[in-house]
Amino acid sequence: MDRASQPSTIDRTHVAAGDGVPISTKETSALLAPNAVSEAPALIASVPASAQHRRFAFGVVVVLLVVFVTSLPFATIQAPRVDAFLTVSQAIVLFAEFLTAIFLFSQHSIQPRPGLLALASGYICSGLFAFLQTLDFPGAYSSIGLITGTPSGAVWLFFFWRFTFPLSVIAYVLLKEAKETISPLARLGSGQAIGITIACAIVTTLGLTWLLVAGYLPSLNIGAAQQPLVQYIAVATWSLNSIAVVLLFIRLRTILDVWLIVAVFVSLPDLTFAVFYAVTIRFSVGWYVGKAFLLIGSWTVLVVLLWETTMLYARLASATILQRRERTNRLMSVDEATAAVAHEINQPLGAMSLNCETALACLTISPLNLEEIRSCLMDVMTDNRRAREIVAGIRSLFKAAPGQRTTIDISRLVQDVLRMVENDLRVHGISASTQFQEGLPMITGDPIQLQQVVLNLVRNAIDAIASAPGPTRAVRLVATKGTNSAVSLLVQDSGPGLTSKSETNIFDPFFTTKASGMGLGLSISRRIIEDHGGDLRLVEANSNGCRFEVILPIAATSDGESFRGLSATARS
Ligand code: ADP
Repeated sequence: MDRASQPSTIDRTHVAAGDGVPISTKETSALLAPNAVSEAPALIASVPASAQHRRFAFGVVVVLLVVFVTSLPFATIQAPRVDAFLTVSQAIVLFAEFLTAIFLFSQHSIQPRPGLLALASGYICSGLFAFLQTLDFPGAYSSIGLITGTPSGAVWLFFFWRFTFPLSVIAYVLLKEAKETISPLARLGSGQAIGITIACAIVTTLGLTWLLVAGYLPSLNIGAAQQPLVQYIAVATWSLNSIAVVLLFIRLRTILDVWLIVAVFVSLPDLTFAVFYAVTIRFSVGWYVGKAFLLIGSWTVLVVLLWETTMLYARLASATILQRRERTNRLMSVDEATAAVAHEINQPLGAMSLNCETALACLTISPLNLEEIRSCLMDVMTDNRRAREIVAGIRSLFKAAPGQRTTIDISRLVQDVLRMVENDLRVHGISASTQFQEGLPMITGDPIQLQQVVLNLVRNAIDAIASAPGPTRAVRLVATKGTNSAVSLLVQDSGPGLTSKSETNIFDPFFTTKASGMGLGLSISRRIIEDHGGDLRLVEANSNGCRFEVILPIAATSDGESFRGLSATARS
């Protein structure tokens, strides 16, 4: 952009604030990480799935599939019988499923979502059926099973287990975009809604188990005569699980969706064995593989939710630290400025007070010494003029206070900024890439101010991309050694670009096209860069996006030692 088109004078009242306080309240609160956090999804369960997540989950599915296919030829081979295996593994399943349900309920209590209740109910049923099946499994807690005492009891309970879970997942998929208002539980508090969901899950589990115990369900004796029925049920259950996987895939949006696919997928091997062999032969290789898969599946979502919670906590912690640091900087600047102004202004005020007292004292002495009184009043006027000059000169006072200058590695600075906006990038599905010329020289400057300049440019880029969804969503930062002993940093985005009117005005104070923008970021940023002896300009703006360039003079001596100063300053 042509610098000549910029106004030659900048509204000093506003820019001056940028000298002492590097960036306005809006700029810091809006540009630093606290805002990134406020724009992040409130629920871990609604964090969008990144391409990396999808690839990782796909990799897990492929590995499980390979293990399953490899085990197929050995599926019917009898392995050593370990009675404790089922007891232990399904106790772990029960534990994991209940923890996941608690996690989902806690998510619902933060932001009510009927889909989460449906899913949590599935996890409760799943945990309970895993436990009941173990109770009724011959050889687990007793030789013939504790509930029905028949071999088909555990088989029915297994099918209940693997039938109710995909049902709850399907309900979750269908309800996940729905707001709480569509749910009949909407009028209840989240505690009551959770209580009713738990009660429904328990009643469903106990109801189905009662049907079995009361003899309303046909026997699934694993003899040849009954095999077709077992296979029909296995096929139905297999199909229901497959439908759940397909639906999740079609409506895949969040990390939770991605890992639920894995959680449902893991039951397919066991059911596939049941389809082909009527029922998996107990303690065969196929049986052990199926149970191991179910064990893995029960932990999948829990581990991912815990991981994401830890990540969110880390982001919140770093946002809070940044916010505190920024506030401390600002308060220190204000404190120093106030002290300086008070110091300057107290002198004429004190002199004015003294001269007034002298004039008053003269008035009490007879005869009146008019010359003395006049002299005192003249001094009062002089001091008054001085005080006014001091007030008028406050801006230059600010300007005279230089920020802390140190040697800075621009690539480190860029990486720090990208870490700050990491969450914003993720939320908007934007990829960020960097390119740093080898042997890039150091620059000298105030690390906090320069960090805020780059942060402002990157935040603007994110806002621009987020405002106009397009196929490419990318921010690129390229640092090279420019001409004339300078380092050039290009910040390029794939946003919608600028209108010709905006292109002319973007560096004007208070020019903004954002509903909540203040339009100070670019004007303050340019001022900061100019104070550093550099330049900030718009290089290109078209329908493919904008490219801004920051040019900063390289440090007189650039060595790694001085860079450690930046880290220390930035952390202080
Ligand atoms: P604010 O972000 O508060 O609006 P800025 O001074 O940082 O203030 O930006 C001024 C305006 O410049 C923005 O409102 C926006 O219209 C425009 N702008 C800045 N950067 C970009 C960009 N990368 N793409 C499109 N428009 C931009």
